[in-house]
Amino acid sequence: MTTHDAVSVIRTKRDGGRLGDDQIDWFIDAYTRGAVADEQASALTMAIFLRGMEPDELARWTAAMIRSGTRLDLGPVGRPTVDKHSTGGVGDKVSLILVPLVAACGVAVPQLSGRGLGHTGGTLDKMEAIPGWQASMTGEQFVRQLADLGAVIAAAGADLAPADRKLYALRDVTATVESIPLIASSIMSKKIAEGTDGLVLDVKYGSGAFLPDPERGRELARTMVSLGHAHGVRTVAVLTTMESPLGRAAGNAVEVTESVDVLRGGGPADLVEVTLALAREMVELGGVDVDPAERLADGSALEVWNRMVAAQGGDPDADLPVAAHSRTVVADRSGVLTSLPALPVGIAAWRLGAGRARKEDPVSAGAGVICLAKPGEEVRAGEPILELLTDDEERFAGAEAALAGAIEITDEAPTPQPAILDRITIDDL
Ligand code: URA
Repeated sequence: MTTHDAVSVIRTKRDGGRLGDDQIDWFIDAYTRGAVADEQASALTMAIFLRGMEPDELARWTAAMIRSGTRLDLGPVGRPTVDKHSTGGVGDKVSLILVPLVAACGVAVPQLSGRGLGHTGGTLDKMEAIPGWQASMTGEQFVRQLADLGAVIAAAGADLAPADRKLYALRDVTATVESIPLIASSIMSKKIAEGTDGLVLDVKYGSGAFLPDPERGRELARTMVSLGHAHGVRTVAVLTTMESPLGRAAGNAVEVTESVDVLRGGGPADLVEVTLALAREMVELGGVDVDPAERLADGSALEVWNRMVAAQGGDPDADLPVAAHSRTVVADRSGVLTSLPALPVGIAAWRLGAGRARKEDPVSAGAGVICLAKPGEEVRAGEPILELLTDDEERFAGAEAALAGAIEITDEAPTPQPAILDRITIDDL
Protein backbone atom coordinates (compact mmCIF):
# COMPACT_ATOMS: atom_id res chain seq x y z
CA MET A 1 0.00 0.00 0.00
CA THR A 2 1.33 3.42 -0.94
CA THR A 3 2.15 5.91 1.78
CA HIS A 4 1.80 8.86 -0.59
CA ASP A 5 -1.04 11.09 -1.63
CA ALA A 6 -1.09 13.90 -4.19
CA VAL A 7 -2.10 16.59 -1.69
CA SER A 8 0.98 16.09 0.49
CA VAL A 9 3.27 16.09 -2.55
CA ILE A 10 1.72 19.38 -3.74
CA ARG A 11 1.94 20.84 -0.21
CA THR A 12 5.66 19.98 0.05
CA LYS A 13 6.44 21.92 -3.13
CA ARG A 14 3.94 24.71 -2.39
CA ASP A 15 5.83 25.38 0.84
CA GLY A 16 9.19 25.46 -0.95
CA GLY A 17 10.42 22.02 0.10
CA ARG A 18 12.40 19.47 -1.88
CA LEU A 19 10.26 16.59 -3.11
CA GLY A 20 11.48 13.24 -1.80
CA ASP A 21 12.69 10.69 -4.34
CA ASP A 22 9.84 8.33 -3.50
CA GLN A 23 7.31 11.20 -3.70
CA ILE A 24 8.55 11.99 -7.22
CA ASP A 25 8.52 8.37 -8.39
CA TRP A 26 5.06 7.84 -6.96
CA PHE A 27 3.58 11.05 -8.38
CA ILE A 28 4.86 10.63 -11.94
CA ASP A 29 3.82 6.99 -12.06
CA ALA A 30 0.38 7.64 -10.54
CA TYR A 31 -0.25 10.60 -12.86
CA THR A 32 0.75 8.58 -15.94
CA ARG A 33 -1.63 5.78 -14.89
CA GLY A 34 -4.46 8.24 -14.28
CA ALA A 35 -4.48 7.75 -10.50
CA VAL A 36 -3.63 11.43 -9.91
CA ALA A 37 -6.07 13.96 -11.38
CA ASP A 38 -5.16 16.67 -13.90
CA GLU A 39 -6.05 19.41 -11.40
CA GLN A 40 -3.57 17.94 -8.89
CA ALA A 41 -0.82 17.70 -11.50
CA SER A 42 -1.63 21.31 -12.51
CA ALA A 43 -1.25 22.45 -8.92
CA LEU A 44 2.10 20.67 -8.62
CA THR A 45 3.45 22.08 -11.90
CA MET A 46 2.41 25.57 -10.80
CA ALA A 47 4.17 25.03 -7.46
CA ILE A 48 7.30 23.88 -9.36
CA PHE A 49 6.97 26.89 -11.66
CA LEU A 50 6.95 29.21 -8.64
CA ARG A 51 9.39 27.37 -6.32
CA GLY A 52 11.81 25.70 -8.76
CA MET A 53 13.68 22.44 -8.19
CA GLU A 54 17.07 21.40 -6.78
CA PRO A 55 19.42 19.81 -9.38
CA ASP A 56 19.23 16.31 -7.86
CA GLU A 57 15.47 16.65 -7.43
CA LEU A 58 15.14 17.56 -11.12
CA ALA A 59 17.37 14.62 -12.15
CA ARG A 60 15.07 12.28 -10.22
CA TRP A 61 11.94 13.89 -11.72
CA THR A 62 13.41 13.48 -15.23
CA ALA A 63 14.37 9.83 -14.53
CA ALA A 64 10.79 9.13 -13.42
CA MET A 65 9.47 10.70 -16.64
CA ILE A 66 11.81 8.53 -18.75
CA ARG A 67 10.69 5.44 -16.80
CA SER A 68 7.03 6.27 -17.47
CA GLY A 69 7.62 4.71 -20.93
CA THR A 70 10.25 2.71 -22.80
CA ARG A 71 13.86 3.75 -23.42
CA LEU A 72 14.79 2.68 -26.97
CA ASP A 73 17.89 0.56 -27.50
CA LEU A 74 19.81 1.87 -30.52
CA GLY A 75 22.68 -0.64 -30.05
CA PRO A 76 21.69 -2.54 -33.25
CA VAL A 77 22.27 0.63 -35.33
CA GLY A 78 26.00 -0.18 -35.25
CA ARG A 79 27.31 3.39 -35.46
CA PRO A 80 27.35 6.39 -33.15
CA THR A 81 23.99 8.09 -32.72
CA VAL A 82 23.65 11.82 -32.07
CA ASP A 83 20.43 13.81 -32.15
CA LYS A 84 19.63 17.51 -32.05
CA HIS A 85 16.84 19.31 -30.28
CA SER A 86 15.85 22.93 -30.70
CA THR A 87 13.84 24.81 -28.11
CA GLY A 88 11.82 26.15 -31.03
CA GLY A 89 11.80 29.14 -33.28
CA VAL A 90 10.27 30.75 -36.34
CA GLY A 91 11.60 29.40 -39.64
CA ASP A 92 13.62 26.79 -37.76
CA LYS A 93 13.91 24.08 -40.41
CA VAL A 94 17.41 23.07 -39.31
CA SER A 95 16.45 19.45 -38.51
CA LEU A 96 15.40 18.83 -42.10
CA ILE A 97 18.91 19.66 -43.29
CA LEU A 98 20.87 18.40 -40.31
CA VAL A 99 19.51 14.85 -40.21
CA PRO A 100 20.68 13.86 -43.73
CA LEU A 101 23.80 16.05 -43.47
CA VAL A 102 25.12 14.47 -40.26
CA ALA A 103 24.16 11.00 -41.55
CA ALA A 104 26.23 11.72 -44.67
CA CYS A 105 29.17 12.36 -42.30
CA GLY A 106 28.81 8.86 -40.78
CA VAL A 107 26.87 9.63 -37.59
CA ALA A 108 23.32 8.26 -37.31
CA VAL A 109 20.60 10.76 -36.34
CA PRO A 110 17.57 9.26 -34.56
CA GLN A 111 15.15 12.17 -34.67
CA LEU A 112 11.81 11.59 -32.96
CA SER A 113 9.84 14.74 -33.37
CA GLY A 114 6.55 16.42 -32.65
CA ARG A 115 3.99 18.58 -34.35
CA GLY A 116 3.92 22.32 -33.90
CA LEU A 117 1.72 24.15 -31.45
CA GLY A 118 1.39 27.92 -31.47
CA HIS A 119 3.71 30.16 -33.46
CA THR A 120 6.69 27.78 -33.81
CA GLY A 121 6.29 25.13 -36.49
CA GLY A 122 6.79 21.41 -35.95
CA THR A 123 9.29 19.34 -37.95
CA LEU A 124 6.67 16.68 -38.73
CA ASP A 125 4.25 19.27 -40.12
CA LYS A 126 6.98 20.46 -42.47
CA MET A 127 7.94 16.94 -43.62
CA GLU A 128 4.27 16.09 -44.15
CA ALA A 129 4.12 18.77 -46.85
CA ILE A 130 6.04 16.26 -49.02
CA PRO A 131 3.46 14.18 -50.94
CA GLY A 132 3.28 10.62 -49.58
CA TRP A 133 5.69 11.10 -46.66
CA GLN A 134 4.68 9.20 -43.51
CA ALA A 135 5.71 10.18 -39.99
CA SER A 136 4.64 7.03 -38.15
CA MET A 137 6.73 3.93 -37.85
CA THR A 138 7.28 1.14 -35.34
CA GLY A 139 10.34 1.05 -33.09
CA GLU A 140 11.68 -1.81 -35.22
CA GLN A 141 11.30 0.18 -38.48
CA PHE A 142 12.95 3.17 -36.81
CA VAL A 143 16.03 1.16 -35.82
CA ARG A 144 16.19 -0.53 -39.24
CA GLN A 145 16.08 2.73 -41.20
CA LEU A 146 18.66 4.19 -38.85
CA ALA A 147 20.97 1.22 -39.47
CA ASP A 148 20.41 1.40 -43.28
CA LEU A 149 20.51 5.15 -43.90
CA GLY A 150 21.66 6.73 -40.66
CA ALA A 151 18.78 9.20 -40.97
CA VAL A 152 15.22 9.13 -39.64
CA ILE A 153 12.70 11.80 -38.79
CA ALA A 154 9.61 10.17 -37.31
CA ALA A 155 6.74 10.76 -34.91
CA ALA A 156 7.45 9.89 -31.30
CA GLY A 157 5.33 6.88 -30.32
CA ALA A 158 2.89 6.87 -27.41
CA ASP A 159 5.38 5.02 -25.22
CA LEU A 160 8.11 7.68 -25.38
CA ALA A 161 7.96 9.48 -22.00
CA PRO A 162 4.14 9.35 -21.76
CA ALA A 163 4.31 11.37 -18.53
CA ASP A 164 5.62 14.30 -20.58
CA ARG A 165 2.83 13.98 -23.11
CA LYS A 166 0.27 14.45 -20.33
CA LEU A 167 2.21 17.07 -18.41
CA TYR A 168 3.01 19.15 -21.50
CA ALA A 169 -0.64 19.28 -22.57
CA LEU A 170 -1.52 20.44 -19.06
CA ARG A 171 1.24 23.06 -18.90
CA ASP A 172 0.13 24.44 -22.21
CA VAL A 173 -3.28 25.38 -20.77
CA THR A 174 -2.17 26.41 -17.27
CA ALA A 175 0.57 29.00 -18.03
CA THR A 176 3.33 26.74 -16.74
CA VAL A 177 5.38 26.24 -19.90
CA GLU A 178 8.08 28.85 -19.23
CA SER A 179 9.74 27.14 -16.28
CA ILE A 180 13.36 26.02 -16.59
CA PRO A 181 13.02 22.73 -14.62
CA LEU A 182 9.78 21.85 -16.43
CA ILE A 183 11.14 22.66 -19.91
CA ALA A 184 14.45 20.89 -19.20
CA SER A 185 12.82 17.70 -17.86
CA SER A 186 10.26 17.70 -20.67
CA ILE A 187 12.84 17.94 -23.45
CA MET A 188 15.47 15.73 -21.86
CA SER A 189 13.10 12.91 -20.82
CA LYS A 190 12.07 12.49 -24.48
CA LYS A 191 15.58 12.76 -25.88
CA ILE A 192 17.10 10.38 -23.32
CA ALA A 193 14.24 7.87 -23.84
CA GLU A 194 14.93 7.99 -27.59
CA GLY A 195 18.20 6.10 -26.88
CA THR A 196 20.67 8.52 -28.50
CA ASP A 197 24.36 8.39 -27.42
CA GLY A 198 24.87 12.11 -27.87
CA LEU A 199 22.71 15.21 -28.06
CA VAL A 200 23.22 18.74 -29.34
CA LEU A 201 20.78 21.30 -28.01
CA ASP A 202 19.98 24.44 -29.97
CA VAL A 203 18.79 26.76 -27.22
CA LYS A 204 17.11 29.79 -28.73
CA TYR A 205 17.00 33.18 -27.08
CA GLY A 206 15.46 36.43 -28.31
CA SER A 207 11.98 37.79 -28.92
CA GLY A 208 10.78 34.73 -30.88
CA ALA A 209 12.01 32.16 -28.33
CA PHE A 210 10.38 30.60 -25.26
CA LEU A 211 12.91 32.38 -23.09
CA PRO A 212 13.72 35.78 -24.63
CA ASP A 213 16.52 36.62 -22.18
CA PRO A 214 19.92 35.08 -23.08
CA GLU A 215 20.78 34.57 -19.38
CA ARG A 216 17.68 32.42 -18.89
CA GLY A 217 18.57 30.62 -22.14
CA ARG A 218 22.03 29.94 -20.72
CA GLU A 219 20.55 28.64 -17.47
CA LEU A 220 18.23 26.31 -19.42
CA ALA A 221 21.20 25.11 -21.49
CA ARG A 222 23.29 24.37 -18.39
CA THR A 223 20.38 22.54 -16.75
CA MET A 224 19.85 20.33 -19.81
CA VAL A 225 23.56 19.61 -20.35
CA SER A 226 23.79 18.50 -16.73
CA LEU A 227 20.66 16.30 -17.01
CA GLY A 228 22.00 14.67 -20.19
CA HIS A 229 25.29 13.73 -18.57
CA ALA A 230 23.52 12.47 -15.43
CA HIS A 231 21.80 9.94 -17.73
CA GLY A 232 24.89 8.97 -19.76
CA VAL A 233 24.03 11.09 -22.83
CA ARG A 234 26.92 13.32 -23.94
CA THR A 235 25.21 16.67 -24.34
CA VAL A 236 26.39 20.02 -25.71
CA ALA A 237 24.26 23.17 -25.99
CA VAL A 238 24.64 26.00 -28.48
CA LEU A 239 22.86 29.30 -27.81
CA THR A 240 21.50 30.81 -31.03
CA THR A 241 19.51 33.96 -31.65
CA MET A 242 15.79 33.97 -32.49
CA GLU A 243 15.26 37.72 -32.97
CA SER A 244 14.33 37.31 -36.65
CA PRO A 245 13.08 34.25 -38.52
CA LEU A 246 15.85 31.81 -39.40
CA GLY A 247 16.34 31.85 -43.16
CA ARG A 248 13.65 33.43 -45.32
CA ALA A 249 10.76 30.98 -45.12
CA ALA A 250 8.30 30.26 -42.29
CA GLY A 251 5.63 27.64 -42.97
CA ASN A 252 5.61 24.02 -44.09
CA ALA A 253 6.18 23.44 -47.84
CA VAL A 254 8.13 26.71 -48.09
CA GLU A 255 10.52 25.50 -45.38
CA VAL A 256 11.02 22.17 -47.16
CA THR A 257 11.92 24.07 -50.34
CA GLU A 258 14.42 26.24 -48.45
CA SER A 259 15.96 23.18 -46.77
CA VAL A 260 16.47 21.49 -50.12
CA ASP A 261 18.10 24.73 -51.38
CA VAL A 262 20.64 24.40 -48.54
CA LEU A 263 21.16 20.69 -49.29
CA ARG A 264 21.89 21.73 -52.90
CA GLY A 265 24.61 24.09 -51.69
CA GLY A 266 22.57 27.35 -51.63
CA GLY A 267 20.14 28.86 -49.12
CA PRO A 268 20.27 31.87 -46.78
CA ALA A 269 23.58 32.55 -45.00
CA ASP A 270 22.18 32.60 -41.43
CA LEU A 271 20.50 29.22 -41.91
CA VAL A 272 23.64 27.68 -43.38
CA GLU A 273 25.77 29.11 -40.53
CA VAL A 274 23.55 27.75 -37.74
CA THR A 275 23.11 24.38 -39.47
CA LEU A 276 26.85 23.90 -39.99
CA ALA A 277 27.67 24.94 -36.41
CA LEU A 278 25.22 22.36 -35.04
CA ALA A 279 26.37 19.71 -37.54
CA ARG A 280 30.00 20.18 -36.46
CA GLU A 281 29.03 19.68 -32.80
CA MET A 282 27.10 16.52 -33.69
CA VAL A 283 29.88 15.05 -35.80
CA GLU A 284 32.41 15.77 -33.04
CA LEU A 285 30.19 14.13 -30.40
CA GLY A 286 29.91 11.14 -32.75
CA GLY A 287 33.71 10.91 -32.84
CA VAL A 288 33.93 11.32 -36.63
CA ASP A 289 36.52 13.54 -38.30
CA VAL A 290 34.58 14.92 -41.29
CA ASP A 291 33.73 18.53 -42.18
CA PRO A 292 29.96 18.74 -42.79
CA ALA A 293 30.50 21.64 -45.23
CA GLU A 294 32.17 19.15 -47.58
CA ARG A 295 29.15 16.86 -47.43
CA LEU A 296 26.89 19.75 -48.41
CA ALA A 297 29.19 20.74 -51.26
CA ASP A 298 29.66 17.23 -52.70
CA GLY A 299 25.92 16.44 -52.81
CA SER A 300 26.09 13.47 -50.44
CA ALA A 301 23.77 15.12 -47.88
CA LEU A 302 21.18 15.71 -50.64
CA GLU A 303 21.48 12.07 -51.64
CA VAL A 304 20.73 10.93 -48.06
CA TRP A 305 17.74 13.34 -47.99
CA ASN A 306 16.31 11.80 -51.17
CA ARG A 307 16.71 8.27 -49.79
CA MET A 308 15.33 9.26 -46.36
CA VAL A 309 12.21 10.85 -47.91
CA ALA A 310 11.65 7.87 -50.23
CA ALA A 311 12.14 5.34 -47.38
CA GLN A 312 9.11 6.89 -45.66
CA GLY A 313 6.87 6.86 -48.75
CA GLY A 314 7.61 10.41 -49.92
CA ASP A 315 8.53 11.51 -53.43
CA PRO A 316 11.57 13.79 -53.16
CA ASP A 317 10.99 15.04 -56.73
CA ALA A 318 7.28 15.79 -56.34
CA ASP A 319 5.98 19.35 -56.64
CA LEU A 320 5.12 20.65 -53.18
CA PRO A 321 1.70 22.12 -52.38
CA VAL A 322 1.36 25.81 -53.26
CA ALA A 323 -0.99 28.18 -51.41
CA ALA A 324 -4.00 29.37 -53.38
CA HIS A 325 -3.54 33.06 -52.53
CA SER A 326 -0.61 35.38 -51.95
CA ARG A 327 -0.30 39.00 -50.90
CA THR A 328 2.73 41.18 -50.15
CA VAL A 329 3.58 43.55 -47.32
CA VAL A 330 5.54 46.49 -48.71
CA ALA A 331 8.10 48.92 -47.26
CA ASP A 332 6.50 52.17 -46.14
CA ARG A 333 9.76 54.06 -46.70
CA SER A 334 13.22 53.61 -48.18
CA GLY A 335 16.16 52.73 -45.95
CA VAL A 336 17.67 49.71 -44.24
CA LEU A 337 15.45 47.00 -42.79
CA THR A 338 16.41 47.17 -39.12
CA SER A 339 13.93 44.91 -37.47
CA LEU A 340 11.82 41.99 -38.68
CA PRO A 341 10.92 40.31 -35.38
CA ALA A 342 10.40 36.55 -35.33
CA LEU A 343 7.33 36.51 -33.10
CA PRO A 344 4.93 38.53 -35.32
CA VAL A 345 6.17 36.69 -38.42
CA GLY A 346 5.56 33.36 -36.64
CA ILE A 347 2.09 34.46 -35.54
CA ALA A 348 1.32 35.64 -39.09
CA ALA A 349 2.41 32.26 -40.57
CA TRP A 350 0.30 30.51 -37.95
CA ARG A 351 -2.77 32.63 -38.68
CA LEU A 352 -2.32 32.06 -42.43
CA GLY A 353 -2.81 28.35 -41.70
CA ALA A 354 0.75 27.00 -41.30
CA GLY A 355 0.25 26.22 -37.60
CA ARG A 356 -2.51 24.99 -35.36
CA ALA A 357 -4.30 26.45 -32.33
CA ARG A 358 -5.41 23.06 -30.94
CA LYS A 359 -3.48 19.84 -31.35
CA GLU A 360 -6.33 18.23 -33.32
CA ASP A 361 -6.35 20.99 -35.97
CA PRO A 362 -5.02 20.29 -39.49
CA VAL A 363 -2.32 22.55 -40.94
CA SER A 364 -2.09 23.95 -44.45
CA ALA A 365 1.00 22.70 -46.29
CA GLY A 366 1.22 25.72 -48.60
CA ALA A 367 0.59 28.53 -46.07
CA GLY A 368 3.36 30.67 -44.64
CA VAL A 369 5.47 33.79 -44.92
CA ILE A 370 8.47 34.46 -47.16
CA CYS A 371 10.84 37.18 -46.00
CA LEU A 372 11.84 38.89 -49.25
CA ALA A 373 14.16 41.15 -47.25
CA LYS A 374 16.19 40.35 -44.12
CA PRO A 375 17.47 42.74 -41.44
CA GLY A 376 20.49 44.67 -42.69
CA GLU A 377 19.27 44.73 -46.31
CA GLU A 378 18.34 47.93 -48.13
CA VAL A 379 14.73 48.37 -49.18
CA ARG A 380 12.93 51.00 -51.25
CA ALA A 381 9.50 52.49 -50.47
CA GLY A 382 6.75 50.34 -52.00
CA GLU A 383 9.05 47.33 -52.45
CA PRO A 384 7.69 44.02 -51.08
CA ILE A 385 9.28 42.88 -47.80
CA LEU A 386 7.09 39.89 -47.00
CA GLU A 387 5.00 37.54 -49.08
CA LEU A 388 2.01 36.08 -47.23
CA LEU A 389 0.69 32.72 -48.47
CA THR A 390 -2.64 31.14 -47.59
CA ASP A 391 -5.38 28.86 -48.91
CA ASP A 392 -8.07 31.01 -47.31
CA GLU A 393 -8.15 34.73 -48.24
CA GLU A 394 -10.00 35.59 -45.05
CA ARG A 395 -6.84 34.76 -43.11
CA PHE A 396 -4.85 37.69 -44.56
CA ALA A 397 -6.43 40.20 -42.18
CA GLY A 398 -5.28 38.32 -39.03
CA ALA A 399 -1.77 37.93 -40.41
CA GLU A 400 -1.55 41.61 -41.36
CA ALA A 401 -2.79 42.59 -37.88
CA ALA A 402 0.00 40.48 -36.31
CA LEU A 403 2.57 42.27 -38.46
CA ALA A 404 1.22 45.81 -37.95
CA GLY A 405 4.02 48.07 -36.70
CA ALA A 406 6.49 45.17 -36.45
CA ILE A 407 8.72 46.07 -39.39
CA GLU A 408 11.26 48.80 -38.74
CA ILE A 409 13.13 50.64 -41.50
CA THR A 410 15.72 53.28 -40.62
CA ASP A 411 18.48 55.29 -42.32
CA GLU A 412 21.27 53.57 -40.42
CA ALA A 413 22.19 49.93 -40.82
CA PRO A 414 21.71 47.97 -37.56
CA THR A 415 24.76 46.53 -35.79
CA PRO A 416 24.94 42.95 -37.05
CA GLN A 417 24.14 40.45 -34.29
CA PRO A 418 25.97 37.11 -34.18
CA ALA A 419 23.77 34.11 -35.01
CA ILE A 420 25.58 32.04 -32.38
CA LEU A 421 26.13 33.48 -28.91
CA ASP A 422 27.67 30.72 -26.86
CA ARG A 423 28.44 27.02 -26.49
CA ILE A 424 27.97 25.14 -23.21
CA THR A 425 29.55 21.78 -22.47
CA ILE A 426 29.86 19.69 -19.32
CA ASP A 427 33.26 21.37 -18.67
CA ASP A 428 31.48 24.72 -18.23
CA LEU A 429 29.28 23.51 -15.37
N1 URA B 1 9.58 21.72 -25.82
C1 URA B 1 9.28 20.62 -25.09
O1 URA B 1 9.35 19.51 -25.56
N2 URA B 1 8.92 20.82 -23.81
C2 URA B 1 8.85 22.02 -23.23
O2 URA B 1 8.54 22.11 -22.08
C3 URA B 1 9.15 23.16 -24.01
C4 URA B 1 9.52 22.97 -25.30
